[in-house]
Amino acid sequence: MKKKYQVDENGYYGRFGGTYVPEILYRCVKDLQERYLSELEDETFQHTYRELLRDYAGRPSPLYHASRLSRETGCRIYLKREDLNHTGAHKINNAVGQILLAQRMGKSRIIAETGAGQHGVAVATVCALMNMPCVVYMGRTDVERQQPNVQRMQMLGATVAPVTSGNMTLKDATNEAIRDWCCHPADTFYIIGSTTGPHPYPDMVARLQSIISEEIKWQLREKEGRDYPDWLIACVGGGSNAAGTIYHYTDDERVKIVLAEAGGKGISSGMSAATLRLGREGIIHGTRTLVMQNEDGQIEEPYSISAGLDYPGIGPVHAYLAEMKRIEALAIDDDEALEAAFELTRLEGIIPALESAHALGALKKLRFRPEDIVVVTVSGRGDKDMDTYIRTSMNQ
Ligand SMILES: *Cc1c(COP(=O)(O)O)cnc(C)c1O
Repeated sequence: MKKKYQVDENGYYGRFGGTYVPEILYRCVKDLQERYLSELEDETFQHTYRELLRDYAGRPSPLYHASRLSRETGCRIYLKREDLNHTGAHKINNAVGQILLAQRMGKSRIIAETGAGQHGVAVATVCALMNMPCVVYMGRTDVERQQPNVQRMQMLGATVAPVTSGNMTLKDATNEAIRDWCCHPADTFYIIGSTTGPHPYPDMVARLQSIISEEIKWQLREKEGRDYPDWLIACVGGGSNAAGTIYHYTDDERVKIVLAEAGGKGISSGMSAATLRLGREGIIHGTRTLVMQNEDGQIEEPYSISAGLDYPGIGPVHAYLAEMKRIEALAIDDDEALEAAFELTRLEGIIPALESAHALGALKKLRFRPEDIVVVTVSGRGDKDMDTYIRTSMNQ
């Protein structure tokens, strides 16, 4: 998001973004705002960050030419394999970066929120690595339906704190994490898992995930002799894997960008998480963005078959890019995502995360020329979704 779509000095993308935090957090957020760029650009930080991404997380992730899927779709498709990272998704890129930042800022305690548990596992992992105490807030409903990830976090040494307010899901876990942060602003670093939250988090997370498009550039040059695709496709929950996928291409108008959000049971069914389509401007978790809300401004509980996409907000940068028509947002329904997951599995031998299956589902809704180069980010692997896949295939 260089130049045109970059965050401004006040933390805004157009009218989206900003810093809407309680008074008590103001100083610690301000401190982070003043320091994050110089810390992230520091040579020692970059050295350690890149070394860990390579030797610990397993980067670069491959850019794989999916030839059978390409033939089926009628274009040249490359898959950016974030599913092959340590802990099984792109979330580790951000967790590694933020824990290094926390250390540099002298913080001694880490907190995080998690929905499906993928971000919680990534944070618990880097906390084990760096020997830092860690509390992960998780709605009680999610604790019950995501047991394997709860067990992974506990084995890694994290405290999983079940949240019993509201619907007991991600939004409530985030509220509780913010409450904790308010009580311990001096010693605690809050590792946010997506391009959401008050400035500088959306920009900071996008930068830490921008390694994805940095790699796509040289990988495409190697494979195709040019460093840009005709299309980039990624799924969006809060927007971090999408932000990383498009970061070095947003100013390049040759590249069409399509973001797949969760249509749920259909955008007019009342059971959806398609925030770019259905959301209205509001404030959620410290940022001004599009929010799923009712007439009275109460946040509406979003729905998706995929636990990583049912966030009632969206990154402020994505709201801005959509308003500027720089991106096309497509709502992919549950059954379309499921079909795409089974298709990829049978054609390429890759079981994708349900979230990533939404990005793959977008392929069916677009018109390509045979020579078009299309990069789809596979944000994570499908192990965590096997119950859903087995249950739905029995119904078919
Ligand atoms: C968390 C998650 C997502 C959604 O988060 P973004 O911030 O929108 O990327 C997508 N895919 C996978 C595999 C995830 O774990």
